[in-house]
Amino acid sequence: FDSRDGVIWFDGAFVPWSDAKVHVLTHGLHYASGVFEGERAYGGVIFKMREHNQRLIESARLLGFEIPFTVEQIDRACVETLARQGFEDAYVRPIAWRGSEMMGVAAQQNTIHLAIAVWQWPSYFDPAQRLKGIRVDLAEWRRPDPRTAPSRAKATGLYMICTLSKHAAEQKGYADALMLDWRGQVAECTGANVFFVKDGALHTPTPDCFLDGITRRTVIDLARKRGVEVIERAIMPEELAGFEQCFICGTAAEVTPVSEIAQWRFTVGDLTKALMEDYEATVRPAAKAEVAAA
Ligand code: PMP
Repeated sequence: FDSRDGVIWFDGAFVPWSDAKVHVLTHGLHYASGVFEGERAYGGVIFKMREHNQRLIESARLLGFEIPFTVEQIDRACVETLARQGFEDAYVRPIAWRGSEMMGVAAQQNTIHLAIAVWQWPSYFDPAQRLKGIRVDLAEWRRPDPRTAPSRAKATGLYMICTLSKHAAEQKGYADALMLDWRGQVAECTGANVFFVKDGALHTPTPDCFLDGITRRTVIDLARKRGVEVIERAIMPEELAGFEQCFICGTAAEVTPVSEIAQWRFTVGDLTKALMEDYEATVRPAAKAEVAAA
């Protein structure tokens, strides 16, 4: 991945893709003092870019550092990087981290860096599997108590749990893993939020110790526009037996149906299909409207 063509925006300037490197004594590498975003461009326009870049700034503040660029500057850098890469549909990855001046847990004076890379990532899951619904395992690792880690931040350190869970699931032949939280309630997948359908209503866990995804909020709005009741509440894993449909959603995953979670089975039903279509229709015309307004 580090030897591609193209450019990466790095601390305010474009550098060749393969030169966008950090020192091995980077604080972010040793102590996970990093935050990032995942954004998607459709038809050359980044969906909900401002919300993502605002969340990047908030995530950094939750880790105690200030990104040395304004949200306007970050927006512009994302747009320019996308344009320089020449992609219409692409994934956009801004990342900010503490630099390498001081080694040790304390690094309050270290330089804060920001980089933005853009690449093509058409489907997060296998496209054929995606239509049939993906198979998901139940993870052994749990989302932490918000008193243990700043769980509202999209922070690199929190992804240690996601990678452990995703690798364990893949080794058993599953596409992803559903993690419970520290209390044993259903939380989220390793890079996406989860929804269930029962009797025509949507049920989704209250995001009190995991990421309240921008896609999650978009899907809730789309469901309500359809007149579908959306219930945010604590969901216990035993309840999965009573749900008819399940899907996960995130910027990379978009809306992806789930056919099974461990011993539980779901159908790819009408509401899931309708929300997949609504989401697709939202990200594309919204993108066009933003272009017209700019
Ligand atoms: N949970 C986790 C752990 C994620 O990595 C993501 C993807 N950023 C999400 C949820 C969904 O967030 P969003 O819809 O903002 O991409």
